[in-house]
Amino acid sequence: MEFAKKKFGQNFITDRNLIKKIISILDPEPNQLVIEIGPGRGALTKELVQNFKKVVAIEIDKDMEALLKTEINSDNFELITQDVLQVNLKELISSEYKKISLISNTPYYITSEIIFRAFDLAKDLDKAVFMVQKEVAQRICAKQNENNYNNLSVAAQFYSDVKYELTVSKNMFRPVPKVDSAVITLTFKNQNLIKVNDDKEFIAFVRKLFNNKRKTILNNLSSVLGDKTKSLTILEDLKIATNLRPENISLEDFIKIYKEVQNEN
Ligand code: SAM
Repeated sequence: MEFAKKKFGQNFITDRNLIKKIISILDPEPNQLVIEIGPGRGALTKELVQNFKKVVAIEIDKDMEALLKTEINSDNFELITQDVLQVNLKELISSEYKKISLISNTPYYITSEIIFRAFDLAKDLDKAVFMVQKEVAQRICAKQNENNYNNLSVAAQFYSDVKYELTVSKNMFRPVPKVDSAVITLTFKNQNLIKVNDDKEFIAFVRKLFNNKRKTILNNLSSVLGDKTKSLTILEDLKIATNLRPENISLEDFIKIYKEVQNEN
């Protein structure tokens, strides 16, 4: 068995302090379930089972199964050997746990998909911790008026309180990846969910408004609605300057634009 498979983006944590930090970020409490995506060779998983009531890990690589099952011979550990994108995460959630957290350290090419799946679980999860490429972490945490503020930043901030926890040097992994990573935390809150009647539709709408980041919000809204006059009226009613770019629009204003569009229809 080869040590690390490129096709599965395998780079394994070697730093014990990093593992300890991730555990403390997950903030152990009695009766807590942790869902781990991408356990790999189990460096973090071994510590998770020591600290949490139950750990369910999802790993795509069948070659890891024997290794994980022998090394982590613990009653509170369950392994699902499957592509996480094929797993119905909702079925893993149970009300018997007081706190439910997700920890994901997966390759960059499925990061956004997994983050969007975590949004689907916003009502069930307390916290999701992601180890992602540093640039992606910065984008997710970007605030209004920052250059890398985009639809993913707006979505993350809609569902959660976002925190950039720490930058992780690429040297803390074997094999050493090309870029540094970062750990971010999304602490879910439901207060924004009640502001829109369909959160997924709202997020899809915001995504469209970022289609042409360099164009004004008026131009983007006009493209989405196919009606410049109506778009102008909406923005003027809301007192949102028409020459702003999508990156200058706050989450609250995106919500207002979305609701106004719905009212007009
Ligand atoms: N968490 C481990 C560690 O830090 O040592 C491994 C991290 S490694 C960057 C990413 C892990 O995600 C690998 O074990 C890889 O096989 C797994 N993985 C990749 N794609 C996956 C998918 N679609 N579903 C589940 N696991 C996946």
